[in-house]
Amino acid sequence: MRYFPLFLDLRDRLVVIVGGGPLAERKLELLRQCGARLRLVAPVLSGQLAKGLRAGQFEHRARGFLPTDLDGARLAIAATDDPAINRAVSEAADARGINVNVVDDLALCTAIVPAIVDRSPLVVAISTQGTAPALARLVRERVESAVDESVGRLAAFCAAWRARIKAGVQDVRARRRFYDWLLRGPVTDLVRKSREREADRLVAAALAAGVPPMAGSVALVGAGPGDPGLLTLRALRALQSADVVLHDRLVSPEVLALARREAELIEVGKGGAGHSVAQSRIQELMVEHARRGRRVVRLKGGDPFVFGRGGEELEHLARHRLAFEVIPGVTAALACAAHAGIPLTHRDHASSIRFVTAHCRGSVAATDWRGLARGRETLAVYMGVGMLATLRRELLRHGRPASTPVAFIENGSRPDQRVVIGTLDQVETLASAHALHSPALLIVGQVAALGAALHWFGSAPLGLPATAQRSVA
Ligand code: SAH
Repeated sequence: MRYFPLFLDLRDRLVVIVGGGPLAERKLELLRQCGARLRLVAPVLSGQLAKGLRAGQFEHRARGFLPTDLDGARLAIAATDDPAINRAVSEAADARGINVNVVDDLALCTAIVPAIVDRSPLVVAISTQGTAPALARLVRERVESAVDESVGRLAAFCAAWRARIKAGVQDVRARRRFYDWLLRGPVTDLVRKSREREADRLVAAALAAGVPPMAGSVALVGAGPGDPGLLTLRALRALQSADVVLHDRLVSPEVLALARREAELIEVGKGGAGHSVAQSRIQELMVEHARRGRRVVRLKGGDPFVFGRGGEELEHLARHRLAFEVIPGVTAALACAAHAGIPLTHRDHASSIRFVTAHCRGSVAATDWRGLARGRETLAVYMGVGMLATLRRELLRHGRPASTPVAFIENGSRPDQRVVIGTLDQVETLASAHALHSPALLIVGQVAALGAALHWFGSAPLGLPATAQRSVA
């Protein structure tokens, strides 16, 4: 590290800005927010600065820069577009032992100004030490989305309680645990929802009891189809504050990598096919960890309420009176359709969509095949690869034409995505000819054919291989 990071208290202390244009305006505004006493040296002022002068925001010396202008200053800022003046300011400041920032000239600076994310009282300063301001801006955008507006309120809330917590919880380690509870538990949730009064009551009660209540919570979180870019910001926040993550096998490693580093990751199977931890055991695990006061994230592929047994898990939590929340995810049908260029509805081809699976309670015989076979409806078939023969036979028997387009999307939205397009009478042949495996989604309906022209992601869609075409005929 070449520069020492530091926050300066400039309240009522003198800062000298040399320059009267837009560069000076920006620095002046920021320094004013920090309560600095300001002296501006410039023969002429921009319109905005002139307005500020009339409002008494700073002392103005209406002439060229003189080294004595820096007398009594803590910090000097050269914000002119004249390199000679900037250099004079820099040298004069350095000679007097005053820190100097020269806008856009690293070599003349003894102090550099970072990119900031201001969620006062929380401030994040980002610097590339002058090497790549554009990169600093990029990182700032990321920090801005990770540190949402409510963090400022949270910091103010902590500030208000700080002295009382210090007096009430004297052991340093116990105090850290107390803050852990405060910052990742129901108190923070309340502050985020602008319910500070209730949050105050919780903290007061916890202080009076001497220990924070050990109530954990469970968030049922949709991990989307695999690409971490398709997580919601709320899902990201839940992952980054989790103590335990109970995840399906379907959840991609890239998404798991976003969990808090200290979080315990527990795979509970349920990859769509193959063996997995019994549902009852998963539910027990959620309760056990939450009872120990942990923040549990139950992370499920796609959306937790779409063929994910999320409903059953919530019923279990409700029975045990545990706090929970549900964070939706991008379900496979939406992600696969998007990444295969297959619009699920289309004014010319389909006016409704159905998400179906054969792997639900109840048998195939109970399925509403007649309803499924209706025209102008798109079917998105989850977990369908094992039931293709039945699907084809029943849909044809109930009137869907054999020529109805179909598309398989295997590993939708992931780098190894494959799309196979054909017709309803070919479904089994398509699947076996390309050795399609889980996870794969089947789309049935006129819209499936559009993938041939509208594909944009990964490799081009495949069709029926020539060898397989003979066997279908
Ligand atoms: N809750 C999940 C679905 C779980 S069922 C969701 O909302 O997406 C598992 C089935 O989802 C798989 O058998 C497959 O049909 C589908 N699926 C999930 N992820 C997929 C992906 N990346 N590509 C294709 N299909 C996927």
